[in-house]
Amino acid sequence: MQALAHTLEKITALIARTASPFEEEARTSAVIACRLIRENSLEIVPAGTVAELRKRAPEPRSQWMPPEVRFIRAKFDGSCLWCGESVEAGTRVAYYPTERAVACIDCHRGACS
Ligand SMILES: [Zn+2]
Repeated sequence: MQALAHTLEKITALIARTASPFEEEARTSAVIACRLIRENSLEIVPAGTVAELRKRAPEPRSQWMPPEVRFIRAKFDGSCLWCGESVEAGTRVAYYPTERAVACIDCHRGACS
């Protein structure tokens, strides 16, 4: 996503440069902008469409976290809430205070996506 955001910024800058009074710069900018649009399979949409879609899009699920989960080092030997594997004291785990349970970090991430 970071790379795409960077590409979009670059294309926006290139499009602005197509208004350059120097014809060669304007033409080169247009060619590069079009190439980036093509190579990245981007689509042209009416102004305001992206902002409208962003408003409607739900929060990305990967950012969802059960309330008050903390990442801690397990104080006791126990077992993972999700996979049941044993968790040794000292292992980094996700702690679910409401369930008073722990989960492996990977299982916790998996449970959230
Ligand atoms: Zn697990």
